[in-house]
Amino acid sequence: MTNNGYDSDNIFAKILRGEMPAHKIYEDDQTFAFMDIMPRGIGHCLVIPKAPARNILDANTDALASVMKTVQLVAKAVINAFSADGVTIQQFNEPAGGQVVFHLHVHIIPRFDGVRMNPPASQMADQQVLSANADKIMAALTQLQG
Ligand code: AMP
Repeated sequence: MTNNGYDSDNIFAKILRGEMPAHKIYEDDQTFAFMDIMPRGIGHCLVIPKAPARNILDANTDALASVMKTVQLVAKAVINAFSADGVTIQQFNEPAGGQVVFHLHVHIIPRFDGVRMNPPASQMADQQVLSANADKIMAALTQLQG
């Protein structure tokens, strides 16, 4: 059974309000993108809507469309930033679906031929590495948007 409640104290809501730090890579009116702190691979990042939504089940369709537009842009940027061979897009809903943070988010994970993803939430990344990777993605985004 799903729980459609939105808890405005979830960690991504706090990041959006500036109450928690994040390595931001992109922002527009509807969406925000930042580095995942326990990456499943180099350059793993997340795109979230600014509007409150627990997950895909309660999200407004306009917010969803905006999120996917940003996902496409960031997916292209991470491929360029890390010379990746591919990109995995993941999105989890409710605990049974693998969701841990209850603000809608889409994972973008650069992939390399023959390299497996790390298990979920396996290791906290070094902040300097996250910062350097965020810089690479932002540079790639600037090129794409230029
Ligand atoms: P899930 O809800 O299963 O899609 O997983 C939540 C994701 O959020 C995991 O990949 C975590 O590593 C990531 N995460 C949790 N807290 C933070 C945070 N403060 N900043 C960035 N990513 C986070």
